[in-house]
Amino acid sequence: MTWINENYLKLQAGYLFPEIGRRRRAFQAAHPDAKIISMGIGDVTQPLAPAVVKAMKKAVEEMGRAETFKGYDDGGIGYEFLRQAIRDNDYKARGVEIDIDEIIISDGAKCDTGNMQEIFGLDNVVAVSDPVYPVYVDTNVMAGRTGAASEKGRYEGIVYMPCTEENNFVPQPPAGKVDLIYLCFPNNPTGAVATKEQLAEWVDYTRRNKAIILFDAAYEAYISEPDIPHSIYEVDGAKDVAIEFRSFSKTAGFTGVRCAFTVIPKQLKAYTKDGRAVEVGPIWKRRHCTKFNGVSYVTQAGAAAVYTKDGKKQIKQTIDFYMSNARLIRETLGKIGYTVYGGVNAPYIWLKIPDGVGSWEFFDTLLNKAHVVTTPGAGFGSAGEGYVRLTAFGTPANVEEALKRIKTIS
Ligand code: PLP
Repeated sequence: MTWINENYLKLQAGYLFPEIGRRRRAFQAAHPDAKIISMGIGDVTQPLAPAVVKAMKKAVEEMGRAETFKGYDDGGIGYEFLRQAIRDNDYKARGVEIDIDEIIISDGAKCDTGNMQEIFGLDNVVAVSDPVYPVYVDTNVMAGRTGAASEKGRYEGIVYMPCTEENNFVPQPPAGKVDLIYLCFPNNPTGAVATKEQLAEWVDYTRRNKAIILFDAAYEAYISEPDIPHSIYEVDGAKDVAIEFRSFSKTAGFTGVRCAFTVIPKQLKAYTKDGRAVEVGPIWKRRHCTKFNGVSYVTQAGAAAVYTKDGKKQIKQTIDFYMSNARLIRETLGKIGYTVYGGVNAPYIWLKIPDGVGSWEFFDTLLNKAHVVTTPGAGFGSAGEGYVRLTAFGTPANVEEALKRIKTIS
C-alpha cells in the first residue's frame, strides 16, 4: 500500500480561477454574441522587447555551433554575466551592495517563493498577509506546517495579517512572535506598496525575533513614486534578516520564457535546535542544485539583455503602456464614484465594492451586465471580501471599452 501525503488533502480546491472560468463559459454559452473583456488575468500581453529577442536569437546561434555550444549551466545557479548585470543594475545602482554569489537564478519566483519554505523547520510559525498570493500558503500546507482550513478558508497554525483600508493594506508586525514572514510589495492583489519606514519596522521586528522575511518583489519594476524602496535591502539591517525574490515575468514579459532570481545575503542565518547559527544561502543552493539543473543559456542571455541600454528603454515603454491602462482604470472608476486602491506602483487595481455587496456577487454583476471579467477579492483570502481585483495588462482599446460599459451600469 502506498500512503499519500495527507497534507495535500487539506488544500482547498484550486477554486478561484476555475470558478471564474466556469462562470465566464456559462455566461458566454447563454449569450454567444456577448464580447467578454477580461480584466482579471494576471498575465502580460505585450511581446518581448526587441533587445531580448535579438539576444536570444544570438544565443540560439551560439548553441548551434560546437565552439560556442553550452550544456548545463555550471553549478545551476546562473551564469556570471547575468548575476553581474543584476548586481550592478538592480542593486549597486540603488546603493545596495550585493555579491554575485548571493544571487541565485531560477525559472520563476513562483517556484522560489513556493520552495523556499522547504529549507526551514516544520515548527516555524508562518505569517502571511490577508489577502495573499496563494502560493505562500499552499506550499506551507503541503509541507505540513498547518492544520485544516476553517470555513473562512484560513488554515490553523498560520498567522494571517489583515490588509485593510485602515492600515493602507500594509500589515503591522504582529504582537506575538512569528518566524517566517511573507511580504509582497508592490502587492498582488491590492497594488499597495510599503514605505521605507514601514519596511524598517518589519526589519526591526524580525531582527529582535531572529525571524526571517521572505520578500517578494516580483512587481518592483512598476514602482513609479520616487520614495518607495525597490528592494528590502534599501533598509538598514535587512541583509541580516531578509531573502528577496525577483522575476523577469512582469518586468520584461518573461511569463512564458521563465527566468527569475533570489537573493540570500551571506550574513542571513537560521538556527539549529541547539542554538547554532547556520548560513541560509548555502543550504538554499544545496537544495536548488539538487532539484534543478539551471535556466537555459538562451533564456539567461535574453534576461541579461533587459539590462542593456536598449533593453531598459524598451521594457520601460511596455511598463508605461500597462501603467497608462492602470491610470485610466483608476481615474475612470474614481470619477464614476468607486473607491479604488493600487494602480500607481503596481499593475493591479483593488476596487472597493459599494454597499457591502459580496465580491462574487459583484463579479457576477460585472459579468452579466457589462460583460467584464474581474477577480473576486475573496479568492485571495477572507480580508479580500468586499473587493475585486482589476489588472492593467489588457490593451487600451479593451480597457476603454470595459470602463465605458461599467460606467453605463453604475
Ligand atoms: N509573486 C507574485 C506576487 C506574483 O503575482 C507572481 C505571478 O503572478 C509570481 C510571484 C510568479 O512569478 P514567476 O512568473 O516568476 O513565477
